[in-house]
Amino acid sequence: MTEDEAPGAEPYVFAPPPAVTVPVRGGGLFPIHRVYCVGRNYAEHSIEMGHDPDREPPFFFQKNPDNLLYGTDFPYPPMSADVQFEVELVVALGQGGADIPAERALDHVWGYAVGLDMTRRDLQGEAKRMGRPWEVGKAFEHSAPIGPIEPVFEIGHPERGIISLDVNGARRQEGDIAQMIWKVPEMIACLSRLFVLAPGDLIFSGTPAGVGPVQRGDRMHASIEGVGELDLAVV
Ligand code: MN
Repeated sequence: MTEDEAPGAEPYVFAPPPAVTVPVRGGGLFPIHRVYCVGRNYAEHSIEMGHDPDREPPFFFQKNPDNLLYGTDFPYPPMSADVQFEVELVVALGQGGADIPAERALDHVWGYAVGLDMTRRDLQGEAKRMGRPWEVGKAFEHSAPIGPIEPVFEIGHPERGIISLDVNGARRQEGDIAQMIWKVPEMIACLSRLFVLAPGDLIFSGTPAGVGPVQRGDRMHASIEGVGELDLAVV
């Protein structure tokens, strides 16, 4: 190869993708490492999905960091006719570690946000039936709308408060974050036994009952008392 043909992004073979970040309320950018999600962390939602919360504890799955969607409307994804909302409290870690004791887990939290775990329910259902992984149902482009990170030094650690989602002004989901089966310290402790956590990890902490589909043109309004709000259209 001659010098004329050398790529411009030396030593990379092509330019690396930009870092994924989420704005912090009050200024600054929160750099994202991984996106973890908790499944079936509210008993009533577990029941509406056909499970027994007393016999099946919550569990984890992941989305991709670049699935996060900030500040723009939600593009209806391809290959699905049943795209559903799940409003969730998002925990943003400022410190990582492995085997974090629950008693010290909150020291690792930098902030919180309102998030949506958008789900291609038809593809997720097919994956469940076939015993296949969930990525096609959960980890698609723009599948994780999120509001600004609200720092702990501004809002503290919310332990209770209404979590809700309205579609076109009608209440569809409502619960209280105090109803989470795994509270924030426990989910961090559990996750840190499975993975090495790092600064910049997000944890979508599960959704209350009432999940359902959206169509293009719908407007979603998510709210968590003491954390914030998120408003976006399906386009
Ligand atoms: Mn979820």
